Amino acid sequence: MKKSILYLSLIGTGLSVTAFAQEKPVNPPALTEVWKPVPKLITPGASASAAPSDAIILFDGKDAAAFIGENGQPAKWTVSNGNLTVQKGAGTITTKEAFGDCQLHIEWKSPEVVKGEGQGRGNSGIFLMGKYELQVLDSYNNVTYSNGQAGSIYKQLIPLANASRKPGEWQTYDVVFMAPRFNEDGSVKIPATVTVIHNGVLVQNHATIAGATQYIGAPAYEKHADKEPLSLQDHGDAVSYRNIWIRNL
Ligand code: MG
Repeated sequence: MKKSILYLSLIGTGLSVTAFAQEKPVNPPALTEVWKPVPKLITPGASASAAPSDAIILFDGKDAAAFIGENGQPAKWTVSNGNLTVQKGAGTITTKEAFGDCQLHIEWKSPEVVKGEGQGRGNSGIFLMGKYELQVLDSYNNVTYSNGQAGSIYKQLIPLANASRKPGEWQTYDVVFMAPRFNEDGSVKIPATVTVIHNGVLVQNHATIAGATQYIGAPAYEKHADKEPLSLQDHGDAVSYRNIWIRNL
């Protein structure tokens, strides 16, 4: 009895060894390794908000040379103490260079001395492609319509949270924007999408933009180029900007 048990167990072992030796590597781990393309090597900034090596610097505190004002005039906003501040009445300023899919870093602060309320307090805006407004507003203890507060895509997309700092404190937006794609006939093939991180907090999560920002009426798309300049809004409030950089995607 004991002998037969031993015999059977040896057979069992022999069979399993044979099966193991004959097993073909039909699905080797290397099959799912992708080696090309190799992501390009860039040098990150010293901090998360410092421009990495492949960024285009739009404002580094020195001058507004990357922008033009309205009607092709020089940008007439104030550059002082490393800040670029809205000069009331000077109008929108627009980048000389055009951008499509991009990653944008921008820092802003609303005036420390609080004046006005609702949309009249620390209002400015970042118009991606000159058309799609990421709202800049003092939304610290300041009630307004939800789709018009800081971090909103103006009158379209309510931010997922209100991550506002106090007026006079610097705030950051980190934006990933995918430009819309159009068909030949001008209809929308793929709408624009946007992801926004406000002071480290996700406020727009790959959100779909319904069209160019409208103050009155529904947003609508109108076919435009693959790349368009970015603009900053003069809404009459002395909002300041600094450390603006962008990466083409
Ligand atoms: Mg605005």
